[in-house]
Parts: sequence; structure tokens; C-alpha cells
Amino acid sequence: MVSILKDIPIENIKIVPCRVNGPRGIVKSFLVSGDDRLILVDTGFSDADADIIMNAIKDMDHRHEDLKLCILTHRHGDHTGGLKKLKKTLKFQVMAHELDMPAIQKTTGYDVEHVVRGGERLPDCGGINVLHTPGHTAGHISLHLPRIKTLIAGDAIVSAGEHLVVSPAYLSSDPETANQSVRRLIEMNLDLERLLVGHGDDVYEGAKSNLSRIFAGPRE
Ligand SMILES: [Zn+2]
Repeated sequence: MVSILKDIPIENIKIVPCRVNGPRGIVKSFLVSGDDRLILVDTGFSDADADIIMNAIKDMDHRHEDLKLCILTHRHGDHTGGLKKLKKTLKFQVMAHELDMPAIQKTTGYDVEHVVRGGERLPDCGGINVLHTPGHTAGHISLHLPRIKTLIAGDAIVSAGEHLVVSPAYLSSDPETANQSVRRLIEMNLDLERLLVGHGDDVYEGAKSNLSRIFAGPRE
């Protein structure tokens, strides 16, 4: 069995495994140490996951007040479900794609203060590029951190064992668009070592080559 908890440190990023009840198992959130602020990527599924994330902030020797921004890769409940408790407890703003924003606001009851379309660049960590990677949901975004050669792919890509696969068709609102998004990622020729996914095993080395082989493998 492949462990998703390799516990290998990644510069600027802490992987936070959250618990999800049900068949989909663990979902991960990511804490990114930005420039004078902490950025959370996805919130897990539940209040319990919000607690896990708040403990992880302390484990990083950060204060809860350091969290200034939460980027939601997409609208699904296993990525947004912890937002309510985090918002009740901490003070930070939320970023999401305009196409997933209405659903996020409806299900969480909180505003998305920063609406993106893809193509934006945050200044942190030498630059965090927001990439629109639709298909899993219409407003799915991925984050590219070129300086640390890392892609946070959310649910646009999942891993099955050691192999990366495109978001499975049965989980995608538009499976063909999900394929096209991953083809575009390959065409961008990103210099990647790490590829971090919402579900499954993360790639820590040589991710560019794993990504380039993605269509050679099986897809559920
Ligand atoms: Zn999802």
C-alpha cells in the first residue's frame, strides 16, 4: 500500500491530511508560508478538519493570525467544508474562481473576497501562478509555484498508486474538459519536481515526467 504521508519536508509547504468520512478517504489541505503571511489551500470536509488545520498552523510555529488567505481549488464539499469553522474562528479572506464562487458562497455562507479567472500571480514564494484547470468542476484552479517547482493540482489530477490520472470521469462535471486542462498543463512545459494532489499520493521528485506520462496510464 502506498502511503500518502511521506513526511518529506517541502520548502514553504506543509501538507495537512484531513479526514473525510466516506469512500473517498483522505483529502489534503496545504499550508503555504508566503511573504509575511500564511496561505491555506483548501479546508478539508468538516469542523474536525478545521481543527486539524488550526493545529497544523501551530505545528509550523505560526500564529493563527498569520493566516491571511484561503485559496479554494474548487467548490466540492471535501475541499470547502472546513471553511465555516475556520471563518468563525480566524480572520482571513477567501479566493476562488468566478465559476465556482456562487456555489462556494451558497454552501459555506461566506463571501469569496478574491475572485479569480486564472492568469493571476500572487507575490508569495517568488510567485504563485493561478491556473484555470476546469473539468473536475467548471471553476477548478491549480497553483503553480515555479521557484519551488511545485504544482498544487487540487482534484484536476489524482494519483492511483504511483501513477497520476486525470480526474476520473465519474467525479468530473466535464470529463473531456478535464482532459484538455491536463493536456494544457503538459503543453505549458512546467519545470516541476513536485505535484501535490487533493487525493492520493503526492509526487516529490521528477513530477514533470510523471505528468507527461499521464495519458499513457489507465483512467477510471
Ligand atoms: Zn473535488
